[in-house]
Amino acid sequence: MAIAIINPTTGETEEEFAAHDAAEVERRLAAADAAVAAMRTTTFAQRAAWMNAAADLVDAELEQIAVTMVREMGKPIAAARAEAAKCAKGMRFYADHAEEFLADEPLADPSSVNASRAYARYQPLGVVLAVMPWNYPLWQVVRFAAPALMAGNAGVLKHASNVPASAMFLDGLFTRAGFPEGAFITLLIGSREVQAVIEDPRVKAVTLTGSEPAGRSVASLAAAQVKKAVLELGGSDPFIVMPSADIDAAVATAVTARTQNNGQSCIAGKRFIVHADVYDDFTAKFTAAMGALRVGDPLDESTQVGPVATESGRDDLIELVDDAREKGAAILTGGVVPEGAGWFYPPTVIADVTPGMRIHLEEAFGPVATLYRVADAHEAIAIANGTTFGLSSAAWTNDADEQELFASELEAGGVFINGMTISYPELPFGGIKNSGYGRELGAPGIREFCNMKTVWRA
Ligand code: NAP
Repeated sequence: MAIAIINPTTGETEEEFAAHDAAEVERRLAAADAAVAAMRTTTFAQRAAWMNAAADLVDAELEQIAVTMVREMGKPIAAARAEAAKCAKGMRFYADHAEEFLADEPLADPSSVNASRAYARYQPLGVVLAVMPWNYPLWQVVRFAAPALMAGNAGVLKHASNVPASAMFLDGLFTRAGFPEGAFITLLIGSREVQAVIEDPRVKAVTLTGSEPAGRSVASLAAAQVKKAVLELGGSDPFIVMPSADIDAAVATAVTARTQNNGQSCIAGKRFIVHADVYDDFTAKFTAAMGALRVGDPLDESTQVGPVATESGRDDLIELVDDAREKGAAILTGGVVPEGAGWFYPPTVIADVTPGMRIHLEEAFGPVATLYRVADAHEAIAIANGTTFGLSSAAWTNDADEQELFASELEAGGVFINGMTISYPELPFGGIKNSGYGRELGAPGIREFCNMKTVWRA
């Protein structure tokens, strides 16, 4: 896969980037390794000052990096600005909280282990490799980089091949803010070159955000080297609506949940599971709202949904929807590829989905929603859990017992009641089942890249 900016709004290749050759990869890995030693002598306060300076740079250059993201992957400009602002916020969050999250954890009663003092101490692992996706070109990286660097690690980024300008912005960002040379570097390499980096003894751990096949491959390579791996993979999140819910609010949030980032979010609501008593009302309003979204040039401030990021991504959507249509699903809105340049796909709602359809089990990575009608909360949970994914979930109900039922019975890394899944720097984020393992964000996110060392003193 070429390392290039191919603008999804036009389909034109705008800029090609030369991949780093073996000598350049070696030079960069050596710099990262050297940075680990330099980072060991820094304090939390020093790293926090640099991290805050990096956040200030993102704020100062927000418009430029937002436009870059739009050119590379087509998200609406307002969403690109919001993503950059969220990165600055996430950086400041870890600048403020890293020391507290990584403070020694003493055992309350050390005499129970015959010690005068016993505690867990968190220490950095060293060089950590991050293999990252294109859908949030800045945020996916920052939510790894901010905790990893605040813990004292060095970060090496292999970004998706279609977002090289974002990758190179991140390459310089942290050293410009004051971090030691090499503390965070980008490798412009293809996915085939990832194996050698994982096998490099200077690399101590790897985190991957991306598709299930990529996750399986990277996790296997890490396992063969007995190296820690964190996997944030795909999802097909359920969005359940029960009769007691505020239906108009549920519809408005459902539209946002499904079409945010042009429908290309791992935590997007993808399967809408609606109680029979409110199914017709929800479906009519949801279909109308999806059909009314403004699709177009993502640099136009009024656009709500831009193109799919890649031609192959749109082909995947076309196949999934066509398969459902051929097997008897009802396409309530959308489902027809528009004429013209770019990889646009309209917001689409599909009803009468049956288990034999691919879209019933596979992730639709674009603005395509499926609808299910259920008789009660238990059937809703059965359908919600009837997938290999387990990233997050949302449930709309004002019944306290149902809220508790969904919170405990949904098989997912998150449950959002009367809302949609959002990643917050303050809250742990991650999945179960084939959506991956490990956690990002919150206190667990910074501890993933640390050695939890037990210290026992007689
Ligand atoms: P992808 O094709 O898996 O690519 C992700 C990254 O992995 C890219 O840097 C890619 O490099 C690299 N890669 C692909 N195959 C690889 C392999 N065999 N070995 C090593 N590296 C490999 O995923 P994507 O299409 O960019 O992103 C969409 C997927 O990511 C969706 O399934 C989405 O749900 C998931 N996602 C999950 C989360 C989460 O937090 N759970 C967040 C965002 C996205 P190249 O670009 O060079 O191929």
